[in-house]
Amino acid sequence: MRACLMMISAAVLFTGTWSLWHSWHGTVQDAEKDAKNQSLSLSRQAQDTFLQVELTLEELTRNADAIFNAPTHFAGPSGLLAVQKSKLPQLDGLFVYDAQGRWLATTAKNVPKNASNADREYFIWHRAHNDELIHVGHVIRSRSSGELIIPVSLRLNDAQGQFRGVVLGTVKIDFFRHFYSWYEQGPGDLLGLLHADGTILYIRPFADNVINRSLAHSPLFTHLLKSALTGTRTWKNRVDGVTRLTGYARLERYPLVAVAGYDYTALQRTWFSNNAVIIILNGLLLLLVMVLGLLGLKQFKTTLRKQRELLQVRDELTRVNHTLQDLALVDGLTGIGNRRQFDFYLEQCLIRAQETGLPVSLVMLDIDFFKNYNDAFGHVAGDECLRLVAEVLDNLPRRATDRVTRYGGEEFALILPGTGPVEATYVAKRALEALRRAALPHSASQLPEKIVTLSGGVSTAGPGDSADALKRAADAALYQAKRAGRNQIMGTGAASKEE
Ligand code: GH3
Ligand code: MG
Ligand code: MG
Repeated sequence: MRACLMMISAAVLFTGTWSLWHSWHGTVQDAEKDAKNQSLSLSRQAQDTFLQVELTLEELTRNADAIFNAPTHFAGPSGLLAVQKSKLPQLDGLFVYDAQGRWLATTAKNVPKNASNADREYFIWHRAHNDELIHVGHVIRSRSSGELIIPVSLRLNDAQGQFRGVVLGTVKIDFFRHFYSWYEQGPGDLLGLLHADGTILYIRPFADNVINRSLAHSPLFTHLLKSALTGTRTWKNRVDGVTRLTGYARLERYPLVAVAGYDYTALQRTWFSNNAVIIILNGLLLLLVMVLGLLGLKQFKTTLRKQRELLQVRDELTRVNHTLQDLALVDGLTGIGNRRQFDFYLEQCLIRAQETGLPVSLVMLDIDFFKNYNDAFGHVAGDECLRLVAEVLDNLPRRATDRVTRYGGEEFALILPGTGPVEATYVAKRALEALRRAALPHSASQLPEKIVTLSGGVSTAGPGDSADALKRAADAALYQAKRAGRNQIMGTGAASKEE
């Protein structure tokens, strides 16, 4: 019962936990999918943004000779640079620098006097690297507009392949700020564009002072991007300490990484509030099962105990009843059947005889000269003598249905169902013989043997005979035996003196 209760509780607990775990797992999987898709979409947007700038820079590169020959022709509101810039909202400006970093042509309205950008990282880079690859730098503040910008640049070479200068397009951080603001986000969620070396270019919703901080030690850059260009993982952000489920996508063409992160705690909170009812119901169900089970167990134990007690009481009553029955049917002095048993059993035998047609014999036995015995040895010895005679009679070999009873006083009766007169007389004689062999001294007996002896009368009932008639006949036969000198059997069978 207890094991059954444990199993049911465990099943409820398992089912509840499994369904909740399944639901949470589904939520995480959905969030991972969303984060990955969102990072991919941001990476596409960044790719397009920078590709447009690259194409523009290539256009300027193609026109490099012309620009170097007549830079003023290309600058100004209607020049090639301004026309190209106007097509691309992400651009803050387009610039052409000569080999010394001087501003040759630009879309910027304010050109600093004798300005040189030879100190800028991208300029130094291109001067040192003779290739045609696009260069994307970290965020800087524009010298012409004051805007936060990402410099995107190409090297210019002269006809001899020598460094001639740099073409630069500056991409506004505000362009991404504006684009990212279209997405609906939770307060802890994050969208960001990072340089492939781990430097922050822009992250919503962080303040601009995180720009250019390095995340090179985050798992994204230490190992994740090394094994796959896109994916999702949960880790703790080093900037604000918030753990996020983050999708990431490295751009194929540019050294940029787009990230989209969901606040893991907020995800748990939302899931919990969506499943609170189920969690509470599951808890209540478990509680209910346990309470009902325990009550049932208690009830079961109580019933079991009561049943045991009832059985004990019944056994006790049965025992007492048997004792009472025994007491009611057993003679207190001798321990053999008493007069009540004699009457009852004789009646039963006669009823049975009616059905079977078999005879029933009765032997009445009376101790000879017993008054003398009492007078000579006292009543206590008389009682003992009665007990011994009863014992002798009770130990006679007999059928299971034969019954020895004390009829009263010093008289005993043998009820012999299914026994005819001859056989009954034989049984009676065996009783006398057994007592003779017991040789209980009786000095007050008038018989010469001076031992306790019995006289007996035998009668046999035929069909229809009553118990009274049977008793009367046996009594009469007994009387005859006494008259004939005692210590003998008389009856329907044959009068016989015990020799
Ligand atoms: P008889 O040979 O003719 O049968 O002579 P008797 O003395 O045996 O017969 P009687 O009827 O004169 O006496 C029977 C005696 O048995 C009288 C009585 O004191 C005694 N007696 C009857 N019941 C008990 C008993 O339970 N205990 C004792 N000690 N004596 C009993
Ligand atoms: Mg008598
Ligand atoms: Mg007698």
